[in-house]
Amino acid sequence: MNLDCSKNQIIIGKPLIYYEVLDSTNLKAQELAEKGAQEGTIVQADRQSAGKGRLGRKWESPPGSGLWFTIILRPKIDPEYGAQATLLSAVVLVEVLEKITGIKATIKWPNDILVGRKKICGILSEMHFNEEAINYMIIGIGLNVNMDQKDFTETLEDIATSVYLESGKKFAGNTLLEAFRVSLEKWYEIWVTEGFKKIRVQWLASSGTIGRVVKVKDNDREIFSGVTEGIDDYGCLLVRNEAGILQSFDFGEISIRY
Ligand code: ADP
Repeated sequence: MNLDCSKNQIIIGKPLIYYEVLDSTNLKAQELAEKGAQEGTIVQADRQSAGKGRLGRKWESPPGSGLWFTIILRPKIDPEYGAQATLLSAVVLVEVLEKITGIKATIKWPNDILVGRKKICGILSEMHFNEEAINYMIIGIGLNVNMDQKDFTETLEDIATSVYLESGKKFAGNTLLEAFRVSLEKWYEIWVTEGFKKIRVQWLASSGTIGRVVKVKDNDREIFSGVTEGIDDYGCLLVRNEAGILQSFDFGEISIRY
């Protein structure tokens, strides 16, 4: 009998709590995490009335067509490296899209999954920590699954896409969620036992950002431009300008020149 309890692998999606409507799966997950919800808990909703993007932006989450969910994690890592969880989630999503739907997506640093130039999926990670430790992280995922072009509002028409639009096939949300669960379990285990190395390699292989000319913005103001060279251990983007100066940027905003 194997009595080695040191390998305490978490189970992603246990429990999985489903709601028909939520304001935001991240808000509900935060509430549950504060009350002690266990690591691996997933909160899913068929519709979000106030789905969140970064910087107070909205994530459109109509019913019946998307996969809107949030995972609670409690990694025992230095909070300094917490941003790696967003990169890890992006790696998982690209893997799942390719495996289940055949779609080849790329990652736009830091938190978008694109097909071509259109967004198929967004990730919104939030971390709650004190000086030494992460209390919990919540990773919100919005994946456009069965939307047709007409299901997107006018503002998203030219910038968003879905699994259906890219593959011509409709998928059950649960099929994708199950694949996500399995893939996250694998990559999360790699992250907490081996660190960031393999995740970085996979992230770079799936990135549509590296090697491109980008403008880095702060509140719509351009603050730097250059060619992206990679990411560091804090998830920061490394950009070299024409004068040869290399600068790192934490979770800001970039526009890519195509
Ligand atoms: P970014 O960092 O690219 O601005 P966010 O992660 O903040 O994006 O997500 C919010 C933005 O994503 C919105 O301002 C909108 O442009 C876009 N958006 C909102 N809902 C969707 C959706 N369902 N699919 C694709 N894009 C969306």
